[in-house]
Amino acid sequence: MSFKGFMMKIAIYPGSFDPITKGHLDVLQTGAEIFDKVIIAVSLNTSKSAFLTFDERVELIKASVEDIPNVEVDSFEGLTVNYAKSKGAKVILRGLRAVSDFEYEMQLSQTNSALSAEIKTVFLITKPKYNFISSSTIKEILLMDGDISKFVPMPVNDYLKNRFAK
Ligand code: ADP
Repeated sequence: MSFKGFMMKIAIYPGSFDPITKGHLDVLQTGAEIFDKVIIAVSLNTSKSAFLTFDERVELIKASVEDIPNVEVDSFEGLTVNYAKSKGAKVILRGLRAVSDFEYEMQLSQTNSALSAEIKTVFLITKPKYNFISSSTIKEILLMDGDISKFVPMPVNDYLKNRFAK
């Protein structure tokens, strides 16, 4: 998108977000400071078994990002690079936690570059206090009736507490 010669720098932030965590949100907030617009998009990733439905994940993201003006929420199927192009985005945003994320993320980024050279991946690192958070740990804590409020945005905590109330 452009007006009067100004090219908007759009990044997409794809992921499973099953559910969105404070770690994801921190990456998104930093991304929104760097880029003109960030589109956070739930990808229908068939290799991971889903905990929440596609719609639930999208709705929980919407409720969690309400106060960030330059963020849009969406979902997509198929190749991330094709989705990025359809949105006029040249950047894929991803978060890095530990060395354990690195190998997978590097492979993914290089595969995407091989598929589409003009799309670049930018990695951001969260604040240390959010670094260890993962969606899968949150599911386990929740299913064992633990307190997840420190790890997820408030709308996610409220929704999941009700949905999985014993
Ligand atoms: P995917 O299934 O595509 O890995 P996820 O929802 O698990 O989707 O994660 C989306 C992105 O956010 C990934 O780049 C992942 O490394 C990153 N991420 C997840 N949790 C955190 C966290 N606590 N801090 C920083 N980045 C994170």
